Amino acid sequence: MDIRIGHGFDVHALAEGLRLVLCGVEIEHTKGCVAHSDGDVAIHAICDALLGALALGDIGKLFPDTDAKYKGIDSRRLLKEVVDIVTDKGYSISNIDCTIAMQRPKLRPHIDLMRERLSEVIGIPADRISVKATTTERLGFEGREEGVSATAVTILIKA
Ligand code: MG
Repeated sequence: MDIRIGHGFDVHALAEGLRLVLCGVEIEHTKGCVAHSDGDVAIHAICDALLGALALGDIGKLFPDTDAKYKGIDSRRLLKEVVDIVTDKGYSISNIDCTIAMQRPKLRPHIDLMRERLSEVIGIPADRISVKATTTERLGFEGREEGVSATAVTILIKA
């Protein structure tokens, strides 16, 4: 059995008046992520964890932000493409654990819907997908509400 672990990390700046989309869920807020895509920082971290597990680079390499076709794209489409690559290589996704760091708004009410949305795209049960949220106690760029960061880890198994 071949077991791979992958880690992903992403950051986006926040700006007034933009949509805030996390794990495919649009969240009511005054600020959203500055990005070429929809700025779904959590999905980007998950994509990088999946790609990292197979040493395939990162989403910036796969989906360059210089390519107009990715402008404003729903990051779930990018995630689906990454999942297809993993599957094509013969691996199955055992689990994913993602942590989002942002000061406001409170993400807890949205966590279960985020897990469901990810489950729909990834094709594994929601009880294998963990999404957690933390503030940074007002420290750093997340704490000053200048940006959002996300980390993710995953285990892939090839039977
Ligand atoms: Mg990103």
